[in-house]
This record gives sequence, structure tokens and C-alpha cells, in this order.
Amino acid sequence: MAMHSGKPAVKFSCVHGCSDCCIYREYYPSVEFGKIGVLILPEEKGRIEKLATEKGINLKIIPRLAVGAQSPEQVIAYQMMGKNQDGDLCPFLAIDELAPHGGLKCRIYADRPLACRAYPVIDDDDKQATLDPHCQFCSKFSTNTADVEGLQQELESLSRIKATVKAERGLHVWRYATATGKDRKAMLPEGWVLES
Ligand code: SF4
Ligand code: SF4
Repeated sequence: MAMHSGKPAVKFSCVHGCSDCCIYREYYPSVEFGKIGVLILPEEKGRIEKLATEKGINLKIIPRLAVGAQSPEQVIAYQMMGKNQDGDLCPFLAIDELAPHGGLKCRIYADRPLACRAYPVIDDDDKQATLDPHCQFCSKFSTNTADVEGLQQELESLSRIKATVKAERGLHVWRYATATGKDRKAMLPEGWVLES
């Protein structure tokens, strides 16, 4: 077993019976912006919509980030919203079938979005790769990537997302408020908000 950060690295595997990352969605970057959906790259959008049509699944994909000099001219990331009114529950999660680890099964596992392939590797506030503390495995073992083995594909997926979702210098970044979640009164109306 390899040693990192002074303690033995543990091999990543999903906690038996867990489906949390396919069910629960976060308010991001704050409650005002509403709950986010699964990040979908512009190049993935058509493919994911086609899969949903083939399987007879209703999808709601809305913009997430855009860039532009004066207005949100070019969408650089979309998001696939949860099917529940509060924004939770991925529409592709089969609620009556189990995956090998005992959690619920993804109906498009082999073709799932890059963001699902990257999870539980995410960016921290300094844009460094870290592990999501909301993940059951990570909250139990570590949120430091150096402490966990077997995440190469996830790290590579995050790098590919970062290479695609980046704003060119001189352009403003706009974030789409989803107005999705429980406390609607605390949220901005659905639409673009200038971020930087
Ligand atoms: S939250 Fe973590 S442990 Fe649970 S299914 Fe997702 S990746 Fe696996
Ligand atoms: S597409 Fe599949 S892996 Fe991704 S959140 Fe939905 S059910 Fe989970």
C-alpha cells in the first residue's frame, strides 16, 4: 500500500448501498443561486439528450456558465437538473434496479457525463483537485486526493472538464441562477447573473 501525507492511502470504492451523488444536489455557490444540476459540457449535451429520448426519459438541461464581453454570449457549461421539485434525483437513476455496489443503478452508466466520471474529485476554492466531503466514502476516509488510490480516471475527467470550461481573458463570466430548491423566497429569479 502506498504512503501519502504520512498515512497509508486507501483505495476508493463506493460505500455499499450509497447513491447520494446521483440523488442530492447542492445550492451553489449560495442559496440565492438555487440548486445546481449535473454539469454537462456543450459537446455532451446532444448525446445526453439523445440517450434520454431513446430511454423515454424527460430531461431538463439548462445553462450553467457563459462568457461574453457585454452579455452571456457563449454558454460554456450546461446542467442537467434533478427530476424532483426540490432539484434532487438524477432522471437517469433507476430507482428499482441495483448497481454492483448495492446502490441504485445509473441507466446510462457506460455513457454517463464527464462530471459523473470525475466525481468525487472536485475543485476546491483554490481550483485544486480535492475530494467532495459530501461523498460518503470521502467523509469517512479523507478529502485529500493524496490519501486515496484508484482515482486516476476521475482526476483525468476533472482535468478534461477544466480544459473545456475556462473563460478567455477579457471576457466576463455569467452564472445561471436556477431558482430550484426548497426556499424559493431566498432565491434569485431564474436567469443569468454577472459573476466576474
Ligand atoms: S456519494 Fe461517494 S460513495 Fe456514495 S455513490 Fe457517490 S461516489 Fe459512491
Ligand atoms: S447520469 Fe448516472 S452517474 Fe450521473 S448523476 Fe445521473 S444516475 Fe448518477
